[in-house]
Amino acid sequence: MPLTFAILIALQIAPGGSPPASTSVAPLPIRRLAQGVYAVPGDSGRGSEGRPNAGFIVTDCGVVVVDALASPHHGRQLLEAIRSVTRQPIKWLVLTHHHPDHHFGAVVFRRAGARVVAHPDRRVLVAEAGEEALVAEWTRVVGADAMRGFELANSADRPVTGDDTLRLGGRTIVVTHPGAGHSPGDLMVWLPRERILFAGDVLVEDGVTMVVDGGTKPLLGALALIEALRPAIVVPGHGAILGRPGELVALTRRYFTGLRSDMRAAVEGGVPMRRALATLPPADETRPVSLNSRRRRNAVRVYLEEERAYMGLESP
Ligand SMILES: [Zn+2]
Repeated sequence: MPLTFAILIALQIAPGGSPPASTSVAPLPIRRLAQGVYAVPGDSGRGSEGRPNAGFIVTDCGVVVVDALASPHHGRQLLEAIRSVTRQPIKWLVLTHHHPDHHFGAVVFRRAGARVVAHPDRRVLVAEAGEEALVAEWTRVVGADAMRGFELANSADRPVTGDDTLRLGGRTIVVTHPGAGHSPGDLMVWLPRERILFAGDVLVEDGVTMVVDGGTKPLLGALALIEALRPAIVVPGHGAILGRPGELVALTRRYFTGLRSDMRAAVEGGVPMRRALATLPPADETRPVSLNSRRRRNAVRVYLEEERAYMGLESP
């Protein structure tokens, strides 16, 4: 599989053309979720194939940004969106994980003075060939114009591996590692007073988040944690922002528990992986993060998990 295709699959981003070369950057549209709390929704209507969601929290002492989008260009558009509501300094950038579509715009916020809150485990499958190769491939995905001024900026100034609480301008912002469900470096941002959760890619609009960098057991644990928080609003990593997040959590759990029992039955029945996957519709060659493509990649991962469990190598 060509690396670019693998990147697109693993990162849940659709190929897109380069933005026009221009010095002026249009702010992205924003959506106010509560007083001082904003989402910057990804492309509406494209679900997991669209731009990721981001967000920001405005306090009297500065701004906390959640995710930095896929390139310096997108980062600047996000910064302009923030500047459309406040001139407060950017204090913190929280990264929900280390996939390029969520952090390749981080340098923009670092240059604006932000310090980075992130999980220190930055391992992701797409960087297997090294960071340089990843950046080169990613530039082909988003375009050289969008990547102008790029520098890696996702190492943590404030590493979080458990729970951490940012207190800024009278606001309480909890950053928590829910386990390595979507990726080893997953973080979620929880606003206890407003009951708003930025879930990163632990949740995506159609319930089929990718676990190729993580695993189903920690993913199911993360879902239980989200349920226990009882959020009023959840901003998923990609797709529509839902006012009834319980339904998306239930949908995601149903998908993964179903996939696990299907793959377990296949392993126990001695069905080889290729035949177990044959029951799924084929991946869409030209839409690497379409529903069918994601389902297939996850099925491979879950088959391997069940196989290891069957051999007694790890608990399911
Ligand atoms: Zn991701």
